[in-house]
Amino acid sequence: MKVLFYQDDTLDLNLDGLVTGLNSAGDGRINFRQGSARFQISGSSIRYSGTYQQLSKSFVKEAQRADLTICFTKIPYDNNYFFHGQGNLIIISFYSWEQLTRLPIENGAVYFLVSVLRFRLPFPTAHRDVTGCINDFLWDKSGIDSGMRSGLVCDACTRQIDDQNLTVNDYKLLDVLRVFLNDLGLASRNDENVVDYWKRLNDVRTAKASDRFAVFLCHNVQDKADVRIIRRKLEALGIRTWFDEEQLRPGMAWQVVLEEQIAAIESAAIFVGRSGIGPWQSVEMRAFLSEFVRRRCPVIPVILASAKDIPELPIFLRQLTWVDFRETPDDALSRLVWGITGKRTDKIAKPVRAKRRIKEPKRVVVKSNGNAGKPRLS
Ligand SMILES: [Zn+2]
Repeated sequence: MKVLFYQDDTLDLNLDGLVTGLNSAGDGRINFRQGSARFQISGSSIRYSGTYQQLSKSFVKEAQRADLTICFTKIPYDNNYFFHGQGNLIIISFYSWEQLTRLPIENGAVYFLVSVLRFRLPFPTAHRDVTGCINDFLWDKSGIDSGMRSGLVCDACTRQIDDQNLTVNDYKLLDVLRVFLNDLGLASRNDENVVDYWKRLNDVRTAKASDRFAVFLCHNVQDKADVRIIRRKLEALGIRTWFDEEQLRPGMAWQVVLEEQIAAIESAAIFVGRSGIGPWQSVEMRAFLSEFVRRRCPVIPVILASAKDIPELPIFLRQLTWVDFRETPDDALSRLVWGITGKRTDKIAKPVRAKRRIKEPKRVVVKSNGNAGKPRLS
């Protein structure tokens, strides 16, 4: 899908940054570009559909080549709507934006982009109240601030969409929209311009390879000694680990440090030992793990040799395959390496006796479940 953006001279949006951020956040599944033709509205208000018919021929010709064209302006609609589309061409008005929210207009652009694209999916009728869901109608516009900060598709809408027979492309679009909303919410809750948020994320991602960590070792502090041993073995195999003892500068909150580095960590291993579930009892840790799931990075639950039994897991981890150190530590280490790197070593290629009942770890891809477990980096 190709999407073109335009703005008129009533606005000074960072469209370059917006396009770069969206293309990167969407993994190129939607192709965003800035149009080159001049978009200009004649008159002091936008009328539907008269204004659309008065747009210049050169602009319309260029806009028609895209699957969706979005034009931003501060000129008001005569009915005070945010937008009213005609086919694949949508004019979005940020009239009196500053009276509705302190958040940057770029954040609003992402909000409305998702709001427009949702019409390509079987969303139910829009909410009449302000719920924070992207499917709010925003009758009096007052819900825009909480909508951007929430950045979510609500459970009720999610259930209704899931009940339809979605195509693979529908799921892909829904997935991309959720990523945009999620990032919008994260940035907005920090009063940050979403373009700056994406730029920070990209700066970390493009950091040189030697700066990247292969695996984040998520563990209960009481299991630290056991995890440290496994960590040494991993490092000896050339696998760079993120382990709080080493990576946390004294005096820095781990949330802040991890927030900055999370995009440069390629997988997460979650250790469970004699102390049982610990790490994911913390809301923040669950949020970070959700972020790995969202980025489709492997998330590998690991049972330490000291564990008595497999504890109850949060729902989003239940479907993942375990690595078990209780019986054959060497095999388990090989499996852990396989899970982290995606490469099998010879050791794993040996047949595994059935009684061990060790399932093979795999590169885990888990579908994000919308707002549940939403990462909160603030
Ligand atoms: Zn909803």
